[in-house]
Amino acid sequence: MKKQTITPRLEEFIRTLKKRRLDAAIVRDQANVRALTGIDCDNALLAVCADGTVVFHTDFRYIPMAHRVAPWLKTKDIKKFKLDTSRLRAAGGGAGRPGAKGEVRVGYESNLTVAKFEALKKSAKKAKFVDVLSDLHAIRAVKTDDEIAKLKAAAALNDEIWEKAQREFKPGMTERQMARVIRHLMIELGDGEAFETIVCVGANAAECHHVPDDTVWDGRLPVLVDMGVRLNGYCSDMTRNIVPRGASARYREVYKAVLDANLAAIAAAKPGISAGALDKVARDLLAKRGLGKAFGHSLGHGVGLEIHEAPMVAKRQKTALKAGMVHSIEPGAYLENELGVRIEDLVLLTPGGCELLSHSAK
Ligand code: ZN
Ligand code: ZN
Repeated sequence: MKKQTITPRLEEFIRTLKKRRLDAAIVRDQANVRALTGIDCDNALLAVCADGTVVFHTDFRYIPMAHRVAPWLKTKDIKKFKLDTSRLRAAGGGAGRPGAKGEVRVGYESNLTVAKFEALKKSAKKAKFVDVLSDLHAIRAVKTDDEIAKLKAAAALNDEIWEKAQREFKPGMTERQMARVIRHLMIELGDGEAFETIVCVGANAAECHHVPDDTVWDGRLPVLVDMGVRLNGYCSDMTRNIVPRGASARYREVYKAVLDANLAAIAAAKPGISAGALDKVARDLLAKRGLGKAFGHSLGHGVGLEIHEAPMVAKRQKTALKAGMVHSIEPGAYLENELGVRIEDLVLLTPGGCELLSHSAK
């Protein structure tokens, strides 16, 4: 058989399988399959064997697309999928390991639906299943050059849409109308929203994930907007605040503290620092300004094919950040019935520190 050429990501995943003493893995999550093969398909099953064999399974509808996107990849009908455990055993897998008693070990994703997991168990009888979801997430956390280019383009478009949206915002508009302005621009200029746009007028911003409602903006209250356009499959994520001239002294004080926390974390973001230590930079600064309790969520999250992915930049997270990771830095302070401020940027970790991907004024 002609040797397959495979993506560096697949090569890395196969190395992980070997390290974890797995004979194979079955990948079904749409984003994981796309990250490994480039194929975007909502009915996919990728069988990856530790010996380097990779087979993509899907149904009739998607076969031509799979051939076009990944001509190097063998494709099969998903309805006929069955894991050949005896072949894996014969290939020196399970049986070859000391103490393995011929057991074939198969990686699976723990975010599978119960129905899919049951079907998988039936298709690979007598196999031992081992969760590899976090391994896949760790591989995806470090972006390829192509992904970095796409994430930069999505972040740049998000900046452009924010600029345009502000010109369309007028006093008298409701939160819902303002969110619609952004949504329409995202559909017109990109591939739509990466998540439902958040617009909060005044004290509504104290709810960090407030759903836009009929609250009217009078032009004098601050507005918090959390928005992300999707472009070529990749997400962006940014939060900005409209700070009117008449904003209260308390609002300005909180805004300054959140901005300082955002800037301090950006200055500290570099490969080698743990995600937890980076979170702490912002958290400690806000605590010193008396806003420790007002910052109830984590500092950030990875962004890629999905809006929330690895790395989680949160308290006590020991994961060391690596060059090539793209994540948000979004400290906030929320005072119930009073105000809320969050300032969120996307950064790309570079060997020497980080590059800011969000360029809107803050
Ligand atoms: Zn956001
Ligand atoms: Zn975010």
